[in-house]
Amino acid sequence: MKIGSNRTISLATTYITAALPPIDWHIGKYAQTTVETKNLNVIFYHSRAFGNLSKDYFAGTKKIIEKMENISGSLEELHAHCPFIPREVEVMLFEEPFIGDRKIPGRNMICIDMYHRDHINSMLHETGHIVFDKADSLPWRLIYCFALGDRSRFNLFKDSSFIPDWHQAEIAREQGWGFIDKPDPGRGPGHPWDNPNELFASAFHAYTAFPDELARRIQDPKTPKDAARAALLVFLYLRDEVFFGKTFFDQADPFKAYNFRSEIAKLKLEEITDSINNMDPEVDLLLNEQNSQKRGRGDLAQTADWLGRYQGLNVLQLCNRFGWRTFPAFLL
Ligand SMILES: [Zn+2]
Repeated sequence: MKIGSNRTISLATTYITAALPPIDWHIGKYAQTTVETKNLNVIFYHSRAFGNLSKDYFAGTKKIIEKMENISGSLEELHAHCPFIPREVEVMLFEEPFIGDRKIPGRNMICIDMYHRDHINSMLHETGHIVFDKADSLPWRLIYCFALGDRSRFNLFKDSSFIPDWHQAEIAREQGWGFIDKPDPGRGPGHPWDNPNELFASAFHAYTAFPDELARRIQDPKTPKDAARAALLVFLYLRDEVFFGKTFFDQADPFKAYNFRSEIAKLKLEEITDSINNMDPEVDLLLNEQNSQKRGRGDLAQTADWLGRYQGLNVLQLCNRFGWRTFPAFLL
């Protein structure tokens, strides 16, 4: 059973983080309420008082309660399968549709706007960012670097591509949102291209909400071979290193015969270096964005140099040598 599969869908977005005032300022202004589930506390913040939660005659309040229940239930379900979901998650519900949805860096907090859409898909993407703090690793960053070589390796994980009617959805009419997951230099960062964290969040969304479609794409003979390879690695990473075997398929796991460590051992450092040095032009443009400059080409060139010193090794050998959680400063 997929997470949130009975619910309507919306687009996961990350945007306008920089436009936010410091989080303490927000917390100070926001009403707070906690929903305790069996294993999880979800602390909600909202810009209107939660005082009348028991009175559902006010449609907005009713909707807030519904959203809180959906979000808490989905987080509880994820928590049961993924040890990287913390015991306490904070969720800020914004009334302003333009604020956007995102995870606040350094906190177990996701931000979701309130009235304009259902939240499950946004929530899954943003929860992916929370999980990434603990699930990040050297092999994951190298998979991201391998993906840079061709946009098709990212396209399989585009959040909006799993949502057939997305372009008709309300969100698409909200000015400024349409570009969020396509590379569009001059307008802003995008996922899943932007960095290893964004690729992870988009993949986390696909893995939990659209596993059957994701598997179909990986197995589709029309999918470019290296895109299918990269996507299989991404899938196996989530299954074996993040969800420790738990899948959300309707049917049996089609990738049962594979495991992450033997598959990542097939990826050679030469292939990653080649992907960095011959980056897909669209992805390359995106990394020139001012929001992405820190993780732009300077760092990538250093990464390629560093990898060059270990040519002949595969990713597993390199990661075993340095430690899975060891990140050279330049490595994105
Ligand atoms: Zn994101």
